[in-house]
Order: sequence, then C-alpha cells, then structure tokens
Amino acid sequence: MTNRIVYDVSGVIPNTARADSQQGILNLKALIVIDMLNDFVTGVLANKTDAERIVPNIARLIEHARGDKDWLVVYSNDAHRADDPEIAVWGKHAMAGTRGADVIDQLAPVGAEREIVSPKRFYGAFDGTGLEEIFDQYGVTEVVLTGQHTHCCVRHTAYGAFTRDYKIAVPADAVCVFPGVDQDAALDYLKTIYGAQITTSEAISGANA
Ligand code: ZN
Repeated sequence: MTNRIVYDVSGVIPNTARADSQQGILNLKALIVIDMLNDFVTGVLANKTDAERIVPNIARLIEHARGDKDWLVVYSNDAHRADDPEIAVWGKHAMAGTRGADVIDQLAPVGAEREIVSPKRFYGAFDGTGLEEIFDQYGVTEVVLTGQHTHCCVRHTAYGAFTRDYKIAVPADAVCVFPGVDQDAALDYLKTIYGAQITTSEAISGANA
C-alpha cells in the first residue's frame, strides 16, 4: 500500500491512507508540542512566566502519550533559515542548529517510540514539513495541540489540521500567548473557526488511563 499523496489538477487531494485508517487500521492520536524551545521560553522571544506555567501540563500529556501505543508525540519546532519570511517580522529566532532552536530540557525528546521531531520554517506544523504524510502512515485522525503561541503557531497549526479533516482538541492549560494577548479570545477563535474542542490536560491524560 502506498501512502503517497497525489495532488490532481483540480486541487482535490485523494486521501487513500486516511480512508484505510477509517476502516480501523491505525487511528492514532497525535500530541503536538509546538515551539517549546529555548528561544521561546528564556531566549530572544522569551515568554518565561506563561511558558513555564504550562510546562508541567505538557509534561503530563507527553508522559501519557509515551505510555500509550494509540498516541504519537510530535515536536513541531521552529528551525529557521536567515531568509525565512518570519525573520523580517520577528528578527532572528530559533535558527536551525542553534541551542535556541532546541526543545527546553524539561520537555526534550528522548528518542521514544512513536516520537517525531518535525522542524518547521513557518507558523503551521503542516506547512512544508511532510507531517501530513507521516500522519497518513500512522492513520492519525485526531490532534491535540499544545505549546506556543495560542494566537499564532497553535492557531496556524489548527488551520492546517482543520483543512486536513483532523479532529482538534486544545487543552487550555497547555497553551499560552505572548504577554498582552488575550488567551481567552485566542482559544475562542480556535473553537469558533476550527471547531476545536477546548479542554484540559487532565481530561485528556485521564481519558485513556
Ligand atoms: Zn518562527
């Protein structure tokens, strides 16, 4: 069976892999940890107070997902090049290969089974990353979005998930915004526009315990 996605001229994407998964082959859920990187916690785009507040909640979700074969753990990490469009907007941050682009030690990948580290050069986890093709191989039908920032990279990842017909859940205690941005408004956008279920890390980690 091939999982290759073929774009036809009308822009319609035949999705045979997902059709297979709907027949019960895999149907994994993906916990996506977005931009919990040194530069976004204590570095050039630091958000220390809010980012550190959500760390234990993300850690709990990672631990839950690592222990359950129905889950993938995906690290969706900025890994920029100097000519990326975002650099003109934000300045240099999370440059590929630097310490600033590493996941913070408390949440770092461990090379576990069903763990994927997915570098990205844009806000959305699905933009130019090949993550959709990996999800097709695992039959992912549902994503849980965590990390930073609710109104930016989480939001663009939610859009990518929405356009691929994944179910979306967002634990409100495992995402955060920049200071001065309205977290409730950002969550409401995800709920209203993408149909995301706004939930809690405990509800998710307890759901399959
Ligand atoms: Zn970036």
